[in-house]
Amino acid sequence: MARMFWIATLLVGLASTADAVKASAAHPLESLAVTASSLGQKALDDPACFALLESLTTEIGQRLAGTEAHKRAVAWAEAKLKAGGFENVHSEPFTLPAWIRGAESAEIVGPVPQHLAITALGGSVATDASGIEAEIALFRTYAELLAAPPGSLAGKIAVVTQRMVRTQDGSGYGAANPIRRSGPSEAARRGAVAYLLRSLGTDSHRLPHTGALNYNDGTSRIPAAALANPDADQLERLAALGSVRVRLLLTPTVHENAPSWNVVGEVKGAERPDEIVLIGGHLDSWDLGTGATDDGAGIAIAFGAARLIAGLPKRPSRTIRLVLFGAEEMDFSGAAYAKAHEGEFGKIVVAGEADFGARTVYSVQLPLGAADSDFGLTLGRIIAPLGANLDRRPALSSGEDIRELQKAGVPVVSVHQDGLDYFDAHHTADDTLDKIDPKQLDQAVAVWSVFTYLAAATDVDFRSLTANAK
Ligand code: ZN
Ligand code: ZN
Repeated sequence: MARMFWIATLLVGLASTADAVKASAAHPLESLAVTASSLGQKALDDPACFALLESLTTEIGQRLAGTEAHKRAVAWAEAKLKAGGFENVHSEPFTLPAWIRGAESAEIVGPVPQHLAITALGGSVATDASGIEAEIALFRTYAELLAAPPGSLAGKIAVVTQRMVRTQDGSGYGAANPIRRSGPSEAARRGAVAYLLRSLGTDSHRLPHTGALNYNDGTSRIPAAALANPDADQLERLAALGSVRVRLLLTPTVHENAPSWNVVGEVKGAERPDEIVLIGGHLDSWDLGTGATDDGAGIAIAFGAARLIAGLPKRPSRTIRLVLFGAEEMDFSGAAYAKAHEGEFGKIVVAGEADFGARTVYSVQLPLGAADSDFGLTLGRIIAPLGANLDRRPALSSGEDIRELQKAGVPVVSVHQDGLDYFDAHHTADDTLDKIDPKQLDQAVAVWSVFTYLAAATDVDFRSLTANAK
């Protein structure tokens, strides 16, 4: 703690030169803060991260969990980690029911025949081979669907057209998420034979946004798909005029017990290697695009930050563990990782996942109690010139893959990237490399590298800072 105080003091410039010299002689702290700052600067001019993302999206492409494409991505990742100077490179296996998209189509049968741009939700069951044709029951808000009485949707295709709100922090997605996750089972409970929702997306293109659903146990499983925004608009207008009939065909399949892996590489700590700073992203992606922003960018950011630190002449005292999670989109990899690492949670100093695209970081949230600590002050001062703030509010969550660790008491960091346009292409066929601005990607790497280095090089104890703040 005293060491951290000195970093802050030195950076603020409150210490006299004589004090600074004394401090630097007593602790190697001035150089530690300077190292963090220069790491950030180096990241801003490091073509390696974009090159990694280009390689992943070009040489591997989409990498749906549990498929051969994802298996190729795992081999690719292991090779890149070894070449990047990581140690203890290995892949930790788990299984999942791999969901594979089939044919998918929909059309308005009447009163005005029209092709509909739809895509199946991940995990959806198939329709009959000939498809389902039925009248729709359209709800402009999810609350209206939930208010519909049991049995009222018997034989109908339920359609929810509530719009997702565009926000910088992605909260609009969080708010709308139950429409996709829980909507199919809620519609089935009311008798619906299929479910369509307006895509959770903020664009106005005819590219629907996929994403996972979660069927409730004990409720019949009905086919579910997302409509492109303009198609949801069309159905709204037609439904206002009268009865609308829609035909839907989905033929996905599921391969039970498909293999997946969490790929791990480490930068071993020089002094306290059993203490772990865990950062990562998810290597799996949806199948429609090439997973450039989700989550190729997160892979490149976490990999890039750790790789820069691995290249330092002197390693930080704690171990940096990079985890490339294997099935985030279908919600399996975080739980698999936590299960495999029970008993190790107390050694994880802090955990964070980069999974919010490739735009610049505008703020960082630390565990409760850390913003006012010497660690927080220091971090804030080093990331300010990069264009990012220390947000004094505590981190409430990190990525999905970190959730189980967080539940087990592991402190988490929340690194916020500008998400205003993230949900324009998210989970669509348009999630491709051309959407990435290398300069913005590099800035995100810079902030992650500063945080990761400081967490690994100092003796910051987030658990005690949180306990003291309560
Ligand atoms: Zn993601
Ligand atoms: Zn995703």
